[in-house]
Amino acid sequence: MFVAWMEPSSTALAKTKELIKHGRERIEQTIKASGSRLCLYAERVAFLMDRSRSPDKSTQPSTPTDNINLGPSANPNAKPTDFDFLKVIGKGSFGKVLLAKRKCDGTFYAVKVLHKKTILKKKEQNHIMAERNVLLKNVKHPFLVGLHYSFQTSEKLYFVLDYVNGGELFFHLQRERCFREPRARFYAAEVASAIGYLHSLNIIYRDLKPENILLDCQGHIVLTDFGLCKEGMEQEETTSTFCGTPEYLAPEVLKKQPYDRTVDWWCLGAVLYEMLFGLPPFYSRDVSQMYDNILHKPLQIQGTKTVAACDILQGLLHKDQKRRLGAKTDFLEIKNHVFFSPINWDDLYHKRITPPFNPNVAGPADLRHFDPEFTQEAISASITHTPDLAASSSSASDAFLGFSYAPAEEDI
Ligand code: AMP
Repeated sequence: MFVAWMEPSSTALAKTKELIKHGRERIEQTIKASGSRLCLYAERVAFLMDRSRSPDKSTQPSTPTDNINLGPSANPNAKPTDFDFLKVIGKGSFGKVLLAKRKCDGTFYAVKVLHKKTILKKKEQNHIMAERNVLLKNVKHPFLVGLHYSFQTSEKLYFVLDYVNGGELFFHLQRERCFREPRARFYAAEVASAIGYLHSLNIIYRDLKPENILLDCQGHIVLTDFGLCKEGMEQEETTSTFCGTPEYLAPEVLKKQPYDRTVDWWCLGAVLYEMLFGLPPFYSRDVSQMYDNILHKPLQIQGTKTVAACDILQGLLHKDQKRRLGAKTDFLEIKNHVFFSPINWDDLYHKRITPPFNPNVAGPADLRHFDPEFTQEAISASITHTPDLAASSSSASDAFLGFSYAPAEEDI
């Protein structure tokens, strides 16, 4: 059964203009590599630090070395010179992601390089440590990026990740404007499966959005950027750390109220909505208007969509987190929603469902789905250079004590 909705042509024209405008903005956003996200991170981190700081520490001057547990730096088992760094494939909030070939065996990896100073300046060391732990926990899930190992120099942290080269979901979405329901359902189901798995480990993803959703060479989902995952969240626990991308902020996050794992189901709703309509829900060019829309405006579902699609969107994008789909039995509720009835979850998990779209990549070194803005960028010499850790008096490296770990024999 379909719900049809007809727009007057002037409204339709305005909407098309809005779509184009939004598309352009999103592309610029990606190319400029999260400049606004950086600001947002700074805001969140300041908030996080305020919460985590003990009363006497809060009176100390704020320096990049705040809250650092000084000690001898770990002796790394891996070093940057183990790799040939080939291309910049993306930029995150704290550094770059590079395509790298390990010299000893010629294996390609995505190596995420983060600057300790930048992180420390934003007082995010806890956040980064959480990223490693979360990634380590996730290596066994089919739709979460696998971390092989990590290491550090005095200035940088290196995460050696699976190289995922099917492109960002957002890249494909921009190109095609929106997806038909079966395709959107497939991606939403793989994302939901990964989120459900994280929740089962008491981890909230929190930062779900198209830029963090990659496709592998077959067209399956791979979630990346676990930097904002919050570990150790028990079922009833909530946190009020400000976080998220403006367009996907859940009302409770916006209001800086305590939030829980249902925030991820809101984000799933936002991503599903954008896949189906080409624009985020409650979208407005005017950010304050968009915030107001998120808080007060009823969800409008326009165009020809199935009742099941309308219903799941209404459920996931429920402003009241207690009444949101997933609030009672978490992933189980999402799994059992009629919108997902065509999905065999066991087949989905085992990748027995053929993806609706094949990125058609020639091999692991095929960069066709990455923006040339990144792939043509020269690689900074400092990324491949290995500074002498022992000679470094930098307290920045001490702050990450214990970060490096020996890769298991089979990882090499
Ligand atoms: P992040 O810092 O994780 O948000 O990554 C920034 C960008 O780098 C992403 O939006 C992707 O385009 C790219 N990227 C991150 N991780 C990987 C990976 N494992 N394989 C390929 N590209 C990646």
